[in-house]
Amino acid sequence: MTPLGAEIAALIRHGGPIGVDRYMALCLGHPVHGYYRTRDPLGVQGDFTTAPEISQMFGELVGAWVAYVHGRMGRPDPLILVELGPGRGTLMADALRALRVAAPGVRVSLHLVETSPVLRDVQARALAGTDPTWHAGLETLPEGPAIFIANEFFDCLPVRQFERRPSGWHERQVGLGPEGGLVFGLAPEPAAEIEAPGTEGALLSVPGAGLALMRTLARRLRATGGTLLAIDYGHVRPGFGDTLQALAGHRFADPLAAPGEADLTHHVDFAALARAARAEAATILGPVEQREFLLALGLLERAERLKARATADQVLTIDSAVERLTDASLTGMGSLFKVLAVTDQDLGPLPGFPEA
Ligand code: SAH
Repeated sequence: MTPLGAEIAALIRHGGPIGVDRYMALCLGHPVHGYYRTRDPLGVQGDFTTAPEISQMFGELVGAWVAYVHGRMGRPDPLILVELGPGRGTLMADALRALRVAAPGVRVSLHLVETSPVLRDVQARALAGTDPTWHAGLETLPEGPAIFIANEFFDCLPVRQFERRPSGWHERQVGLGPEGGLVFGLAPEPAAEIEAPGTEGALLSVPGAGLALMRTLARRLRATGGTLLAIDYGHVRPGFGDTLQALAGHRFADPLAAPGEADLTHHVDFAALARAARAEAATILGPVEQREFLLALGLLERAERLKARATADQVLTIDSAVERLTDASLTGMGSLFKVLAVTDQDLGPLPGFPEA
């Protein structure tokens, strides 16, 4: 058992089974053993790869999008640019380069919301010369109109899960099996607050932390102006089915096998996120599939321009990146990933989002 597994087992022995949300929060964010606190999980050596790590084109297109939105917002100066969960800082480095080309002379006040000390170091190196300020949460961000970027951020926020039984929805919990190992179980009493219909055995996920964050963001956008661009793997219709997943060494793993050593994520419920933002009177664009978004922003044109100056090997790399980012198969990034924009006011049509 991992050190964190032993700690969680002790916690359960004393206090009883814990919810999936608490388990997820401990696995990812435990101050000593949390997955994101202890390592750089991205890339070939790590457990998973993200779109900005696949190709510079991803961040560049996001940067061009930011330049356009900044213009629609009336060019606030400086532009407060915030990234939630910036990983290795790759997306932001690529985006800033494109932003400076598309909006020459723009002054950027850069803010990174990141809890991992390891990744903060990697970000500082990737973004040397851009003078970012790091934050542990949204509370310390400066006031004023801002553009928020969140790629693969909402998927690592804790969710609660419930299973349908004849007596109602019972919360899924992590408890101890007869051998003392971690096992999934159900709370003995149904949860009175869940009223959704469902057939016996159905599993319902409630992304409490993500919804709370979305409400906070939407309220802030409404109060001081701005736009959020959120990109994540997830679904547009409400979330039935077990979508909690663990990844280690680029492979799916048992979420209970190695707490703190594997990434734990969850399919993002975009319908619920959009509803939460709308409830705060924010304007929503999308969600659209990542493929649609990137192609509308000119991914193919950008690829052609890069290829014109590339070696034969680089041409292959660029082509394969385009393929991966837009892959429309069931498990491909192009269709599995969705893009949602939230704004404080109607900015008119924005690039990448077809007009409704
Ligand atoms: N956006 C990056 C990285 C995605 S991984 C990319 O696309 O490559 C998730 C990122 O969110 C990591 O940087 C992780 O450390 C950070 N993170 C996870 N939980 C967080 C939390 N509760 N608060 C702030 N950052 C968090």
